[in-house]
Amino acid sequence: MLYVVPTPIGNLEDITLRALRILKEVSVVYAEDTRTTRRLFDHYEIKTPLRSFHAHNEHAVVERVADDIAAGTPVALVSDAGTPGISDPGFLLVRACVRKGVRVECLPGATAFVPALVSSGLPCDTFHFEGFLPHKKGRQTRLKYLATLPHTFVLYESPFRLLKCLEELETFCGADRIACVARELSKKFEEVKTAPLPELKAHFSAKEVKGEIVVVVAGKSE
Ligand code: SAM
Repeated sequence: MLYVVPTPIGNLEDITLRALRILKEVSVVYAEDTRTTRRLFDHYEIKTPLRSFHAHNEHAVVERVADDIAAGTPVALVSDAGTPGISDPGFLLVRACVRKGVRVECLPGATAFVPALVSSGLPCDTFHFEGFLPHKKGRQTRLKYLATLPHTFVLYESPFRLLKCLEELETFCGADRIACVARELSKKFEEVKTAPLPELKAHFSAKEVKGEIVVVVAGKSE
């Protein structure tokens, strides 16, 4: 069995009782950055051995890890924050397990886009999750496509690129499109602001933008 285990995106209390039990019971936990996961483990007194599983070794180790699991080793996979596989390593290992007939259980839990989407006040019955846009090549093409979607879409963005992103969204979606910037969710300085794009730009230009950010944008018809 491979357990895919979501971990908090800020507030250490945002982890389920089941996640804590499984992290204690498995033989090994594969982690994106073992130092980050070690802090969570220390907080909850989890002593399970940690091994590295990140974007740079994912391709190389995926078959070996999947074979270990197939041979009977119970394994959990975590990323630095939120749900593995969501803009984080995980997909390749899950796919390898599925192909080998190994059972995969992804626990329900923390992820950044759900609280951002729900608290934005924008329609969340149908939505598109985009994650990170490419930094350079393909960025404009992607934005042009997103601007045509009739439903809400969700981006992950770095604080350093937020203003550029809002500027680009205004160019492609128009100045009357409503969007939401959800910053530092579940943390002390959480901020969720929903407004037309020019107003968001003005708000976030007034001070240095810090922290982790999700941008939620209304669909074309809204
Ligand atoms: N696996 C994670 C998930 O399930 O959401 C996403 C990992 S991705 C590498 C990190 C990005 O998620 C950040 O750059 C930001 O866009 C978003 N994010 C993570 N934590 C956040 C938080 N507390 N508040 C707002 N956005 C957050």
